Amino acid sequence: MIIGGYQPFTLTDYPGRPAAAIFTQGCNLRCPYCHNASLRPRGRRPGGAPGRQEILAHLQSRREQLGGVVITGGEPTLCRELPGFLREIRGMGFRIKLDTNCTQPQVLDELLQDGLVDCTAADVKAPPDKYVHLAGTEVDMAKIRKSISIIAGSDLPHLFRTTWVPDLLDEADRRQILAMIPPGSPHVWQRFVRENAVDPGLRARR
Ligand code: SF4
Repeated sequence: MIIGGYQPFTLTDYPGRPAAAIFTQGCNLRCPYCHNASLRPRGRRPGGAPGRQEILAHLQSRREQLGGVVITGGEPTLCRELPGFLREIRGMGFRIKLDTNCTQPQVLDELLQDGLVDCTAADVKAPPDKYVHLAGTEVDMAKIRKSISIIAGSDLPHLFRTTWVPDLLDEADRRQILAMIPPGSPHVWQRFVRENAVDPGLRARR
């Protein structure tokens, strides 16, 4: 498991809990609006990122101060060692929030079935006919829909989210995206930060 970054303390990433955030290295999508370019390459540990044991030791030392751990990326569900890593974190008594891009429903289902996740935030990037464009690569929409269904049916706190990129999405897309969200599930529109976008074309537009 390759860790791309570690934020030892955050008050904004785990609802209602002070938390630490762990960024896994590697993503299978290439969203043009992504602001985590350094986390996208797979199989390469960036210089300066702490290792797994270092993070676990730090979490152990902060058990009294932190209530949760956020696993984000990159795309965490691509890491084969993720279940074991989550078990170690769970063993210290932390609640776990998982951020996912919804491309790996089988992994997601196993993590939820095994009780390794307490809270989920999941991307719904675009209406089906624009998903390739917003994800920057081919996407299996059946897997996206399956993940949405698993999360919504999990009885765990969850949140679906869409980065609103005005250059790439329009009002008809907004309606189609909302139609993809199961009734009763919360959804938020995230602000697109233009200056952080990977795609220089998006960065250049004003
Ligand atoms: S899912 Fe998209 S936005 Fe998220 S890390 Fe991967 S490329 Fe970036």
